[in-house]
Amino acid sequence: MQKMNLLKRLKDLKLEREKVCWRITRKCNLSCRFCLAGSRNATYKDMPLIKVIQVLNKLRLIGTKSISFTGGEPLLREDFDVILKESFNRNMSNTLTTNGTLITPYWIDVIKKYVSEVKVSLDGTGEIHNKLRNSETFDITFEAIHRLLENDVCVEINHVLTSYGIDCIEDFCKLFRNLAVSKINFIVPIKRENLAYNMDLSISKRQLKDVKSNISNIGKRYDMDLVIRKYFGDFYKRPLLETDGTILKCMSSSEDDTPIGSIFDVGKRQFISSILVEDPVKTEAVVKKEMMGYAHTVWI
Ligand code: SF4
Repeated sequence: MQKMNLLKRLKDLKLEREKVCWRITRKCNLSCRFCLAGSRNATYKDMPLIKVIQVLNKLRLIGTKSISFTGGEPLLREDFDVILKESFNRNMSNTLTTNGTLITPYWIDVIKKYVSEVKVSLDGTGEIHNKLRNSETFDITFEAIHRLLENDVCVEINHVLTSYGIDCIEDFCKLFRNLAVSKINFIVPIKRENLAYNMDLSISKRQLKDVKSNISNIGKRYDMDLVIRKYFGDFYKRPLLETDGTILKCMSSSEDDTPIGSIFDVGKRQFISSILVEDPVKTEAVVKKEMMGYAHTVWI
């Protein structure tokens, strides 16, 4: 791929660099019907830790303040605890999206130390969730949510809207009525030709209109923070860092989309010039000084 000024491209595309999503792995222990990560056919290799550290340094230098780690299932990476710690130590805040099936007491300790918020995926009351996720995991995930909340972890629920789940939204919300989850995000998935989702799980525009009104009423009735998002809505402005370091426009991008660059394209020269354009008060000498601490790992 031809090297390009990634920082300029991010700016041209009005993408944030303060907040990025990072698909830290495509491996997953589940095989959900609406999966966009392609984890079922994953031939991807995880980025080795040494490269991950380089990426963290580059992100820090380009001004990233917050990383939303997603997957696949991030907790499948054995070194994910180290990654969270290294990110935290660079003053970046971490959020985590997880299917909630692998949350052990060890991970709760790690999360308490290094993660500011956990988004757990749950897509309906018991049977519906299990059917959509192709696994008997509702009880495990629900229990994990309890454990996280007991440990004062900030938890949001991500609920994908499908034809299977729209009739039980009120029952679903009732499950959380007396729990301290900060919010439930109802996510309208994007359509992709190759997804099983399109065959029998999608909801029509008319259904979506009714669902929106239903969710709004339930929120008022139960005094709950219920949000409807077009596939990971607020992530639209965030670049998605793929497992190999390529950058896609947003969370809803798939591997078929043209990458806008690679985090490894961010070179010393282009970094300095972009900072100088954005912050004319700084001099090149000041920027170089700021870069010193990272010099051994960032630019190789
Ligand atoms: S848990 Fe997430 S990454 Fe894993 S199969 Fe389901 S949707 Fe895909």
